[in-house]
Amino acid sequence: GEFRQLDFDKLSVLGSGNGGTVHKVSHRRTSALYALKIIHRGHPGAADEVAVVRRVDSPHIVRCHSVLPTASGDSALLLELMDGGSLDSLVSGGFPEAALAEVAAQALSGLAYLRTRRVVHRDMKPANLLVSRAGQVKIADFGIAEVVSRAGTHRAAYEGTAAYMSPERFDTEPAHDGEEEVRVDPYAADVWGLGLIVLELLMGRYPLLPAGKKPTFPALMWAICFGELPAIPDGAASPALRDFVAACLQKDHRKRATVADLLAHPFVTGRDMAASRCALCQVIEQRCR
Ligand code: ATP
Ligand code: MG
Repeated sequence: GEFRQLDFDKLSVLGSGNGGTVHKVSHRRTSALYALKIIHRGHPGAADEVAVVRRVDSPHIVRCHSVLPTASGDSALLLELMDGGSLDSLVSGGFPEAALAEVAAQALSGLAYLRTRRVVHRDMKPANLLVSRAGQVKIADFGIAEVVSRAGTHRAAYEGTAAYMSPERFDTEPAHDGEEEVRVDPYAADVWGLGLIVLELLMGRYPLLPAGKKPTFPALMWAICFGELPAIPDGAASPALRDFVAACLQKDHRKRATVADLLAHPFVTGRDMAASRCALCQVIEQRCR
């Protein structure tokens, strides 16, 4: 490639997770800023993440400019820097409805694109939606993403963050004798994740457990698979927003809205585009330190 890791200065740490660390870096010669995601060689799925990232290119997906060679054999993804950070750091205080419509519309464009590339993300959550101060929303982190084959998916259902896993992903039992095998649309899990993101941003906190409750795995699983959705107070959301969230958070994956359905939903199509973009920019501007 045209870039090498030693062409960059590390400025700060933007985030870190299971797979590695993301640094804010500057290119020495041009001073251009990027995010550099180092994925450790031994991390399961490292090769898959690189393969998926190379497969996608869209205005609603965080762009990977280059995969840099490293001496240690780790993978280093040179990513476009999203200067508003991830939505998890903006949750507190909640989002006005116009800003939510903008997040939903742009994330849906990203999911619609991923579908054309047969990619399921499988880890949709606020930490993996990045924003720019200009009001762009992009999907990031393909750490457990998968390319869907004719035979369906092969990755373990349990991977990902339990809090954002869809109900059907907790059901790992194969069908018993005489039972019909239910084919699960792998894309439906990403719609669930998007609905939960929108509801979390509306409420200003993780919506499926009472505030302050420590999220144990059994409590999460129960809330996701059997719990009722939290009541949104009167006046806190329009009928269109309530319906959008309910369509995404349909527990039965066969009844859940698809990305195409949601792109045509009044909550998305009925928004004032300029106003909702502006509302999102305001939230980002206020909450970015
Ligand atoms: P994995 O889920 O595979 O363990 P991860 O969660 O460690 O991956 P990412 O989600 O890609 O890795 O990045 C972690 C955090 O770093 C993000 O939540 C975000 O806050 C920050 N970050 C990542 N990429 C960028 C970027 N391009 N621009 C700005 N911030 C970023
Ligand atoms: Mg992440």
